[in-house]
Amino acid sequence: MEEKKILGISDELVEKCVRCGSCRQVCPVFNVTHEEPSVARGKIFLANLINKGKAELNREAAHFFNLCTTCLRCAEICPVMVDYEKIIISARARAVEKFGLPPEKSAAVKLFSNRKLLEVTTKLSSPLTKLFTKKSKSPQNRLLPVNVPKLGKVLLPEPSSKPFNSEDRLFPAKGKGKGKVIFFTGCMFNNFYTQTANNVVKVLNALGYTVFVPKEQFCCGAPAFFSGDLKTFEELKERNLEGWGGEKADFIVSACATCGHILKKEYGEVSIPVKELIEVLYESLEEIGKWKLPQKVTVTWHHPCHIVRGQKIPRHYPLDVLRVVQNLEFIDMPEADNCCGMGGSFKLSHPEISREIQIKKAKNIESTRAEMVLTECPGCVMNIAEGLERINSPQKSLHIADILVMALE
Ligand code: SF4
Ligand code: SF4
Repeated sequence: MEEKKILGISDELVEKCVRCGSCRQVCPVFNVTHEEPSVARGKIFLANLINKGKAELNREAAHFFNLCTTCLRCAEICPVMVDYEKIIISARARAVEKFGLPPEKSAAVKLFSNRKLLEVTTKLSSPLTKLFTKKSKSPQNRLLPVNVPKLGKVLLPEPSSKPFNSEDRLFPAKGKGKGKVIFFTGCMFNNFYTQTANNVVKVLNALGYTVFVPKEQFCCGAPAFFSGDLKTFEELKERNLEGWGGEKADFIVSACATCGHILKKEYGEVSIPVKELIEVLYESLEEIGKWKLPQKVTVTWHHPCHIVRGQKIPRHYPLDVLRVVQNLEFIDMPEADNCCGMGGSFKLSHPEISREIQIKKAKNIESTRAEMVLTECPGCVMNIAEGLERINSPQKSLHIADILVMALE
């Protein structure tokens, strides 16, 4: 086996890039900066030099490795199928070992990886947020009362006064049961989008699944993993695996694209299979075809990067689900699978680039004239809601469970 080098990756991995430049056409960051280090080709070239000891892993190099939303569009288009995610995470991990996390990433990782801290923060900020912010057009989101220079409107998800998984919770199926599932709620559903979490449960119950929400679950580790803090990621992974250890269930459901991607790809052999909500919905097309919204609604769809590229779930799954719901008119969106600009802590570390990508997404949504955009990732819901506010669009951003539940009432 080939010896691992400075970045902890094999030469074979970094030498696979044939420098064709195809990734330049699809990279959302390169499309804003037009600088080679922004794109996969530039980062892989740099990683190769550092790996062989021909260039130094300095702070500038670490900065370039962080200049990426990890949307994986480059990996998808790459003719030689470079494992870009492996390269970039290894490079970031070495940079973190050498320099530590940049301050904004460190704050985000500390907050999300410490369940108690996150719960106390959201509980304390819940009444204050309601007092000092105003409602967004997208429910469960708030807007700062004043615009921020260079960014404009800034949106926050509404903090919950009580976490969704504050105790073990069991929600029995409606009618003839199909089985029992564990809902992996993740940080965003537990602490912010608790109404959506409720809606996910109601939809699963209506499809015949009894839903168990274990108290003993923690952040999936995505903020730490994508920042290169692999030690924190491994600790969270172990805690989650211990939490499910004694449970019996047919499968684990994730309703967050990033949690699902991380659980499937980075948790190794999990004793219970993991399914993304959109896969469960697609398997239930016949039942969902009987569901009828109380009034006609026009919607469009945003494909989360970690569903279509991370988990490689076919793009037609959500569209087929939406097309069978009665009283729902689906309108196609241009570039529906382009990144929304969130990229986890990328939004914090590169707010202006993130904003440009976000505004492009919002304008594509606006062009459909649909009443709302649906997706299946709380991070995308939040970032897109903010983008729509920034361009003063009347459209709303919702999770797919938020609309499906209306067809059940
Ligand atoms: S993952 Fe996305 S943002 Fe990062 S280099 Fe690839 S295409 Fe660009
Ligand atoms: S598309 Fe793949 S092979 Fe081509 S430059 Fe980008 S990473 Fe290299």
